[in-house]
Amino acid sequence: MNNRRTKIVATVGPSSIKLVKELSQYVDVFRVNLAHGTKESIKEYFEIIKTEAPDTSILADIPGPKLRVGDLPSPITVKKGDKITFGDQIPVSDNIFFKLIKPGMEVLIADGTIKVIINEVEDGRAVATVDEGGVISSRKGINIPDVQSNIGLSERDLELAQLAINEGADFLGLSFVLSANDIKNLREKVKDNVWIIAKIEKKGAVNNLSEIVKEADGVMVARGDLGVEVGLENLPKIQARIIKKARLYGKPVILATQVLESMVNSPIPTRAEVIDVANSVIEGVDAIMLSDETAIGKYPLEAVKTLENLIRSSERNFNPRLYPPLKSYNDAIASAAVTAAQLASAKAIIIYTRTGSTALRIIRQRPKIKIIAMTPNYKLARKLKVCWGIEPIEIESLNSIDSIIEHARQLVEKKNLVKIGDVIVIASGTEELATDFVKVEIIKG
Ligand code: PGA
Ligand code: MN
Repeated sequence: MNNRRTKIVATVGPSSIKLVKELSQYVDVFRVNLAHGTKESIKEYFEIIKTEAPDTSILADIPGPKLRVGDLPSPITVKKGDKITFGDQIPVSDNIFFKLIKPGMEVLIADGTIKVIINEVEDGRAVATVDEGGVISSRKGINIPDVQSNIGLSERDLELAQLAINEGADFLGLSFVLSANDIKNLREKVKDNVWIIAKIEKKGAVNNLSEIVKEADGVMVARGDLGVEVGLENLPKIQARIIKKARLYGKPVILATQVLESMVNSPIPTRAEVIDVANSVIEGVDAIMLSDETAIGKYPLEAVKTLENLIRSSERNFNPRLYPPLKSYNDAIASAAVTAAQLASAKAIIIYTRTGSTALRIIRQRPKIKIIAMTPNYKLARKLKVCWGIEPIEIESLNSIDSIIEHARQLVEKKNLVKIGDVIVIASGTEELATDFVKVEIIKG
């Protein structure tokens, strides 16, 4: 992890669960996809990660209403103009489908390759006309881009979320978020201060992006479903918009899906994948996530090592600098800390943070200087692992500015980051959620 600023999230699955220890040398956050397995197997995954990689934090991903084609005796070929019937002819994985669709709505099947328009809906049955044909087979994904309101989380989703929290998850990924309310509802239900990562993968979520980013603790550019919903040609611009918005609000953003997809079957990535990683580093994402590459791929360790290498190389060559507008005195102090650190060629910015807010403000500009966040909050230290550039360290609670400065000094000396005459910059908030103090400290003998 040393010196790498962009963090790595890796999904655990059958290919990687036995490699957790080895992978944890490179991985900052493991993702457990709650869509797969039984409660017992999910629990087992958590236990293995906690034992083998106790310092790696865990993102538990709540599946939400991911709709799929049910089991078909054989694939069905459809062409433009055909009438099809959801329910009896084409079963759907969840009956919620029939509550979400309305006549006139577009439904996409199999990664958006097939498009149908709904004609009529009655309980458990819907007739549709094919607009773009193709082959419908079992378990293919179904997307309804025009859905505007969420039906909320299922009983099972909530049970899984609770299980993940009991097992010590640091983040909950929330699929198919449509509005800030979806996040509020989950937060109310789980009654835990776990960070909620809103997965942006609905057309409606893109329309409500500001309120979602404000309400969530972080966001994920979930390019799989998002690409289907908005159309692939619109994905680059929407990805850029999500990343920029998250950075403006100072919320961590995870880039996900098909990052090194070819490495599911190949020990080396494609040129296009390599350049996608570099571009994400340039855009300044907090973390890059691997899904199938590590969950079910043939080369999980190679995928993680490749990503690590690509990130390091990109970070040496490109700069994700951005100067977000300052909206409060807290932003001003954080920005001043960064500017002062640069002008003084400081060896490190040391933050003392109880809620994480000062740490998040400091990294908004993505300064090149080493950043260490000291916190008395053990859970917060784990959460900050997903954030760009932050090395979190858990320490005792400090109650005065003097003790913060003293502690910062001891820390950089212990870590051999400084020699006499070097400068460090220390930032903190004396009030909850504030950033109201910055100290330029010259190391003396
Ligand atoms: P998923 O989310 O892997 O849970 O579907 C990511 C995505 O849709 O890109
Ligand atoms: Mn998805």
